[in-house]
Amino acid sequence: MSSADETDAVVVGSGPNGLAAAVVLARAGLAVRVYEAQDTLGGGARTLDLGLGRGVRHDICSAVHPMALASPFFQAFDLPARGVELIQPEIAYAQAFPGRAAAVAYRDLDRTSSELSSPGWKTLLRPLVASQEAVTALALGDQRSIPPGLVSKAGLRFGAQFAARLTRLRFDGAASLLGDDGAALLAGVAAHQIGPLRSCSAAAVGLTLSALAHAVGWPIPRGGSQSLVDALVADLLAHGASVRTGCRIAAFESLPRARAYLFDCSPRALARLLGDRLPGSVRAGLLRYPYGNAATKVDFVLNEPVPWADERLRRAGTVHMGGSAAQVASAERDVAAGRHAPQPVVLVSQPASFDPSRVGSSGQRPLWTYAHVPSGSDLDMTQTVIAQIERAAPGFRDTIAASQCVPAARLAEHNENYIDGDIAVGAISLYRLFARPRPAWNPYRTGQQGVYLCSSATPPGPGVHGMAGLYAARAALRERFAVREMPELGPRPGPAEPGTKALF
Ligand SMILES: Cc1cc2nc3c(=O)[nH]c(=O)nc-3n(C[C@H](O)[C@H](O)[C@H](O)COP(=O)(O)OP(=O)(O)OC[C@H]3O[C@@H](n4cnc5c(N)ncnc54)[C@H](O)[C@@H]3O)c2cc1C
Repeated sequence: MSSADETDAVVVGSGPNGLAAAVVLARAGLAVRVYEAQDTLGGGARTLDLGLGRGVRHDICSAVHPMALASPFFQAFDLPARGVELIQPEIAYAQAFPGRAAAVAYRDLDRTSSELSSPGWKTLLRPLVASQEAVTALALGDQRSIPPGLVSKAGLRFGAQFAARLTRLRFDGAASLLGDDGAALLAGVAAHQIGPLRSCSAAAVGLTLSALAHAVGWPIPRGGSQSLVDALVADLLAHGASVRTGCRIAAFESLPRARAYLFDCSPRALARLLGDRLPGSVRAGLLRYPYGNAATKVDFVLNEPVPWADERLRRAGTVHMGGSAAQVASAERDVAAGRHAPQPVVLVSQPASFDPSRVGSSGQRPLWTYAHVPSGSDLDMTQTVIAQIERAAPGFRDTIAASQCVPAARLAEHNENYIDGDIAVGAISLYRLFARPRPAWNPYRTGQQGVYLCSSATPPGPGVHGMAGLYAARAALRERFAVREMPELGPRPGPAEPGTKALF
């Protein structure tokens, strides 16, 4: 491309999806410009020094990355070859209980099942773990086409097994199959959707993330989530793209002329940005897009590791707080009804236990937590989170050197996509899994030629996987540039990964 006010493609927003879209476009040989509202790149995958402890850096949003590890985009991009190390804690995640032993999910399925003293865990998950590629194809597909991995006898068998398990969990609950501890373990995972647990979407989230824990793990990037972002940005710059931070796009007219525009934004923001350019029905649909329940972030600096009563929790990458399956379900019901739960679900990640580079110069370490709260909550949840952790780690309070709370109502200040604290950028339901952001054959198109939505408000939804970016870039390449081959995404020249090629 040529002049200063003209380029091939513009990407607004530098979250993992925006960056993935930009990488695919730049790798196809296009001139790409990325505009980011914040002063730093990476959206929900940034790691920042919050000034709470010397040399202590915090994952301000995402911290744990099963989706990135399973993602066909990141596999083709080849993180290990770019020096990004995904550390695998021996225990992927655990459900902590006050005053008694935790329920833990090891990477190893058999060990998990035997420690839970229930064969149900293995019965539930073994077929899904054995079909990890099909799980990934289902979870990270565009939810419009039948993923290539599922078009086979084995794929159909997997689909039937997944549907049978989903139906059983949705209608019978998990306790009869998994026992109390297994049911609590699964409830902690299903609660990641932040909403009522007795739903098909919660069952699907629970099954998918639980299966991934045993199939690929729930890894933590060395140095924090930012290392994924840095690798993407380095590749972009190496392929001639330009990147501007501190540049919030408030009007479509302010953008340079381009043949394709990809927005890593929330649907309502896109509707406002495009205004009358969008067909009336699309605009109305995007303006009505429903946002979901919320998270309040609390970051800590600790003088020493969390004093978990169950010492196995020291080896867990992620710890879910919230008690039994019934207690988790009740807390999630409260949140969905717009109430603060007395003992909310709290997620904890302790990266310094696995990554010495996360220990600050005076031995201090970050602790990443967030609590589930009603949409728009402006409560400071620090004391509630401390109380939740204290129940399973007496003395935790005494390890705290500093903390910072960003209530749900203020989450949009550092990422405007998270309206009222909705970190999934849209309510999650079975219908919405297939109608993000609206019921349309191609959810990335906007009805305005050359303008695409590529954020987690499009399939496959929330998580650091870059797949929405890849699918939106695929649509733009086909429709605006007549490119029909997936560009090579790895660090070394060579043919495109067969898996990614199939996505094209
Ligand atoms: C507290 C929290 C914890 C999470 N934990 C995990 C986790 O452990 N694992 C996981 O996989 N996922 C996690 N997530 C979810 C994950 O971070 C998101 O799903 C993912 O980042 C979405 O990527 P994205 O590219 O769609 O958007 P985002 O990462 O949200 O990025 C969007 C970017 O666009 C920019 N932008 C928006 N509008 C404009 C504009 N008008 N002009 C310029 N720039 C604009 C924003 O500033 C932002 O940088 C978490 C999220 C939060 C908030």
